Amino acid sequence: MSNIVAIVGRPNVGKSTLYNRLTETRKAIVDDTSGVTRDRHYGVAEWIGKPFTVVDTGGYVAHSEDVFEAAIREQVLIAIEEATVILFMVDVTTGITDLDDSITDVLRRSKKPVLVVANKVDNNQLLNDTHIFHGLGLGEIFPISSMTGSGTGELLDEAVSHF
Ligand code: GDP
Ligand code: MG
Repeated sequence: MSNIVAIVGRPNVGKSTLYNRLTETRKAIVDDTSGVTRDRHYGVAEWIGKPFTVVDTGGYVAHSEDVFEAAIREQVLIAIEEATVILFMVDVTTGITDLDDSITDVLRRSKKPVLVVANKVDNNQLLNDTHIFHGLGLGEIFPISSMTGSGTGELLDEAVSHF
């Protein structure tokens, strides 16, 4: 059974962009509007000779805030169940939102390693803003730019160290 790296987080933080970068496929739908990636997507990736499965989570289409939040919670619970390592992605340009807080509450129950990934750190100025995510209380922050790939090497080094 392959090791599984699951990417969780609220809509629009850049999960599918990272998934596409890691898997070099275009199977996950990337869209500028929130909540359009409907399913969980599984792709194959490899880092320093270690193959693994990447999961992109979505399925956030809902009619009310409550249902919406419940759908995200469900995705996070599945990730806690099936993943070897969980990447909790947040967005440095927005800081910590209410949804980030509720995902954090669910992730606290996980006995699996959770890496906080601060995405959209496209330049060094934004690096300073990532310190705010220590407030989530989940440990080390990995600043990356899914768009440019910056920081993804350090993140993957840490992720595969848990295999
Ligand atoms: P998802 O809903 O979490 O899967 O997020 P997406 O991957 O669909 O990305 C949402 C939006 O954020 C898209 O417009 C992406 O182009 C943009 N985005 C993703 N990664 C980055 C990044 O590293 N930097 C910037 N500036 N934008 C990004
Ligand atoms: Mg997506």
